Amino acid sequence: MFFVDGHCDTLTVAKTGGEDLFSRAGHINLEKLARFAPSVQVFAIWLTDDQLADAYAATCEVMDYAHAEFAKHPGHIRIALSRADVAGNIGDRVCSAILGAEGGEPIGSDMGKLHSLYAKGLRVLTLTWNRGNNISGSIACPDGRGLTAFGREVLGECERLGILVDVSHISTAGFWDVARAAKKPFFASHSNCRALASHRRNLDDSQIRAIADCGGVVGVNLYDAFLSDSPKPGMDDVVRHLQHLVNVGGQDCAALGGDLDGIPEPTSGWFTDVTVYEALYHRLTALCGASLADKIFRENSLRVFAF
Ligand SMILES: [Zn+2]
Repeated sequence: MFFVDGHCDTLTVAKTGGEDLFSRAGHINLEKLARFAPSVQVFAIWLTDDQLADAYAATCEVMDYAHAEFAKHPGHIRIALSRADVAGNIGDRVCSAILGAEGGEPIGSDMGKLHSLYAKGLRVLTLTWNRGNNISGSIACPDGRGLTAFGREVLGECERLGILVDVSHISTAGFWDVARAAKKPFFASHSNCRALASHRRNLDDSQIRAIADCGGVVGVNLYDAFLSDSPKPGMDDVVRHLQHLVNVGGQDCAALGGDLDGIPEPTSGWFTDVTVYEALYHRLTALCGASLADKIFRENSLRVFAF
């Protein structure tokens, strides 16, 4: 079994803690990932408020850390900069790391910084985190701002360069601005279904359809509060979200985006780390068949990761 997952926060946590990426505790380390080679993981770089004074420099520091850590283990994982890199790594049975930024703060209002980050290996841009920025408002901001003029330029430039645009966390207005302006598939890397859990971070059915219509995917998040309004959700709730995505958007739009190392431990204790994907894959296969489970676990995201 191998998987493709659209979002984890492992890099920032590991860098901040001065940890060895191979053996660190937490949800993801390279030893655990390598058990599922040739899996593909998007490693998002998320910044604390303290790092915003020079968000670009802070992001570059984490990218340098990532390059250095991954370079120590080329037999286990390699940074992928293109679809061809991912395909090559799969052929070599080696995991792929794709670098992302969670929020456009490192770009500020300077398109040159987007180009520099691309040159350093950035291939996924989550337009906002829970803060508004020069690109758009966030779903967590009261102002409800959509894409700015600069945000529209960033969207177009990401599509031109080959940076996949991620709408998780963005405001509702920003989402629809992206949906109207996008010329290429975009994705929600780590968001669930509002119909099943009422959290503002989740997507309503019209948003799920818009992502499916553009050829994108929605990666299901393993966070309790996004899985259910009831206490102690578990694996069955993950399956319900995946099935809802399939029912609303079709078989080609459901994917994984666990948010591992970015979310607290589940109250029911139903998972402790990334190895839970093995059990989830078997559960899905038993319920939906191997063909759909393989789409959700790999094929849908690989189609969208087309840099
Ligand atoms: Zn997030």
